[in-house]
Amino acid sequence: MELTDSHGRTINYLRLSITDRCNMRCFYCMPKEGIVNKGHDAVLSYEELLLIAESAIGLGIEKIRITGGEPLVRSGVVRFLVQLGTIPGLRHLALTTNGLLLAEMADDLFKAGVQRLNVSLDSLKPQTFNEITRGGDLHRVLAGLDAAEQVGFSPPKINCVIMRGVNDNEILDFADMTLSHGNSIRFIEYMPAIKEEGWQRYCISGAEILERITSRYTLEPVDKGAFAGPSRDFRITGAQGSIGIITAVSGHFCSDCNRIRVTSTGQAKGCLFSDDKTDLVPCLRPPDREKLAALLRGIVSGKPERHAISAEGYAHKNFTMSQIGG
Ligand code: SAM
Ligand code: SF4
Repeated sequence: MELTDSHGRTINYLRLSITDRCNMRCFYCMPKEGIVNKGHDAVLSYEELLLIAESAIGLGIEKIRITGGEPLVRSGVVRFLVQLGTIPGLRHLALTTNGLLLAEMADDLFKAGVQRLNVSLDSLKPQTFNEITRGGDLHRVLAGLDAAEQVGFSPPKINCVIMRGVNDNEILDFADMTLSHGNSIRFIEYMPAIKEEGWQRYCISGAEILERITSRYTLEPVDKGAFAGPSRDFRITGAQGSIGIITAVSGHFCSDCNRIRVTSTGQAKGCLFSDDKTDLVPCLRPPDREKLAALLRGIVSGKPERHAISAEGYAHKNFTMSQIGG
């Protein structure tokens, strides 16, 4: 079954957040003081998350990415992934992590049937990494990346949010990583989510990121695989890995959007930057499968054609990405 929105886009991808908690405090994602975690009752149980996944797959979703907060901090996540992977119709199960717990958990995740890992990594310098994440240990993430490959994952995709004056001096270092290694590096434009004082100074467009890379290397376009998101993908001539640019803010994005999101408290969203959300909880407690499917269909048909944010302005309320799942 194909699920299409009212703008003719095929919607086959669900980002499902399983927790708003996190073991890091990235400054672009969470305010310094942290966030008040949702109470245990507010966070959906694994049974409820499975019900949502089943319903979405029944409507035409084929790919699910588990996200958070940090998904690996929620206890029982491996068993949940095993159960998720058995739902008929799910063709691709992926997970996004900050990598801190990956070294210990990679083997279990692989055996649970996770097909693809995305690891967020914004700096290759321990001090800068520590500052961006407000305390994260780069070496643990690098150990996690190694462990993932050792247990059988293909090289994880690395998500790197580029911020002017913070880590833009590492764009070429990240690009160099693709020369001899099969990682794909995806450069993500900084998005004004929590809009801390002076956020505009961090903005750097995907076009400028590309220019910096092409000042040293020749890039060739790469065909997107099945379930590819809205990144533009390239390869440095002769390199093993690829480079993706995700221009969520500056454009080239919305027309290819194939996703919906559900937060760990059961709020479904058709667009990351829209304040619109639909509460799925009333059809989970107690479960009402028909109503749940109808609400999810409504999210898809109500997806806006495009978002209204830009580096100069914005039209959404502040939000913490950790509560939505990125
Ligand atoms: N904790 C996991 C992680 O960091 O990979 C998963 C959740 S995190 C919210 C998902 C993604 O959102 C990460 O790749 C992170 O870099 C990205 N993200 C969070 N805040 C962002 C922002 N303001 N601009 C761009 N990307 C952001
Ligand atoms: Fe946590 Fe991920 Fe947000 Fe960083 S980006 S604070 S790791 S949820």
